[in-house]
Amino acid sequence: MAFSIHGLSVSRGVVMGRAVLVGSSRRDVAHYFVEPEQVAVEIDRLRAGRNAVIEEIIRLQASIQQMGPKDTPQELRALLDVHLMLLKDEVLVEGVKQWVSERFYNAEWALTAQLEVLSRNFDDMEDPYLRERKADLEQIVERVLRAMQGVASPVLPGGPDRRRKPRKSDREAAEDDLILVAHDLSPADMLHFKQSAFSGFVTDVGGKTSHTAIVARSLDIPAVVGTRSASQLVRQDDWIIIDGDAGLVIVDPSPPIRAEYQRKQAQNLAERARLARLLHTPAVTRDGEVVELMANIEVPQDVSAALACGAVGVGLFRSEFLFMGRHGHLPDEEEQFAAYRRAVEDMHGLPVTIRTIDIGADKPLDGSQRDDAHLNPALGLRAIRWSLAEPAMFTTQLRAILRAAAFGQVHLLVPMLAHESQIQQTLAHLARARASLDRRGVAYGPVQLGAMIEIPAAALNLRPFLAHFDFLSLGTNDLIQYTLAVDRTDESVAHLYEPLHPAVLRLVAQTISQARKSGKGVAVCGEMAGDVAMTHLLLGLGLRNFSMHPSRILAVKEEVLRADTRVLAPWAAGVVAADHPEQAILLR
Ligand code: PEP
Ligand code: MG
Repeated sequence: MAFSIHGLSVSRGVVMGRAVLVGSSRRDVAHYFVEPEQVAVEIDRLRAGRNAVIEEIIRLQASIQQMGPKDTPQELRALLDVHLMLLKDEVLVEGVKQWVSERFYNAEWALTAQLEVLSRNFDDMEDPYLRERKADLEQIVERVLRAMQGVASPVLPGGPDRRRKPRKSDREAAEDDLILVAHDLSPADMLHFKQSAFSGFVTDVGGKTSHTAIVARSLDIPAVVGTRSASQLVRQDDWIIIDGDAGLVIVDPSPPIRAEYQRKQAQNLAERARLARLLHTPAVTRDGEVVELMANIEVPQDVSAALACGAVGVGLFRSEFLFMGRHGHLPDEEEQFAAYRRAVEDMHGLPVTIRTIDIGADKPLDGSQRDDAHLNPALGLRAIRWSLAEPAMFTTQLRAILRAAAFGQVHLLVPMLAHESQIQQTLAHLARARASLDRRGVAYGPVQLGAMIEIPAAALNLRPFLAHFDFLSLGTNDLIQYTLAVDRTDESVAHLYEPLHPAVLRLVAQTISQARKSGKGVAVCGEMAGDVAMTHLLLGLGLRNFSMHPSRILAVKEEVLRADTRVLAPWAAGVVAADHPEQAILLR
């Protein structure tokens, strides 16, 4: 029977497909399709992994036998018996084979998919003893996965086949789109899934501007976060629809509902085609104001999407994504330089704004775990605070960015500054980085220096920023979080995360106006820049540089083309001064 789950819409559009549940502990296994002719090889890999674990347990049993009953607890013997029994269980073996031969999942994916199915069965059991066997099942699956690590797949994850969808001639069932359903995904997981076959995402946790949501948006596929319980309610391989516009997940939809959503999908496609006609139209308002629409990117490869959507530059390259999920092996100067240079060269002379590492809070260095060792990670050692605490890392990054600037137009952006002392330290590190390149005789180029304004203390004290920087970039995602004391990643307070709160708007308005008065550039690179409901307000406040996900550029351009800033300016001033801007913005 159909039912729906409500969450927060993070990425627009509609997708229908099969649910793929990814359990938190096994998130790291590769998900890719194998060719039909490789199914047998994949099943052999599974068999080899399972047999290795069976042999290991039998060897253990034999050594226990030799020790005699007094030296080994009865529980251990019983446990090994249970593990053997589970390993030989046909429901596990046959189920896994089915995922490989009918859905063409790689072996590890098939094993974890079947684990999810069986775990649900255990959860539903009345008998507490049987229910607890779920932990044993999880353990043996982990052991088989480990045993399989030594037996590489002939189809390497990350290789060209990674994105392969089953061919039309494959079984019809395998042609469905796949939708990832998980309790939580870290930003690094999301980056990993950029290369995968999924057509949509659903998570239990997360806010609209959590970094997981931001990466989902950059993938330009429908996604819903903050559903609280989707990973409990949806079952492996269920038919689901994601309505990214409404923040809705529909499970097991009836034929009329499916037909309705097919119509919606067709409408979305038509809308995209309509917007695509604006690709080569310059973003100029009706009264002749030129507006720069730039792209936010996470990795250099995103540059192609930015250019394809008509971006006139990269307004935010979130460099921290190069550092995530590296298990301690952080990129050195050469690797960073290569990545920055690639982005700069691929933009063919258009500016690239490289932000120094913004790690911490919901972007831990090591992918799968959030930084909850500290009670308030968003207020802790994050972004520039982290960089200044790791001076060697920071100057290495600065050197790499300066070197890339020899190959094109580079803007260097520093996140989360609040104190004048941090500005001075940053400038000193920059001077040190230049001096060290001089000593080495390595070429580097000039950069425009920018500061992110994303802490209220910075927005309320712009003087030192305007004195030392060439431009400011408003990070509205964090500015809202810190102004309203609302965790941007916490779905339980998402209703309080209000971009139109009068306090937020006043900080945004005065930052734009003071920067302009001082003759400095000012941009917005938070999610507000890609929200068409905010475009006219920001234009009215004097903003002429917007940076957003490439997929939002054409929709925002359409709003720019409709705008007359002479009319918008007094109206915007009224909205900012209003007690209820959310109502005032509707009156025009
Ligand atoms: C912001 O805070 O608005 C911003 C652009 O930076 P991030 O989302 O990466 O924190
Ligand atoms: Mg930020």
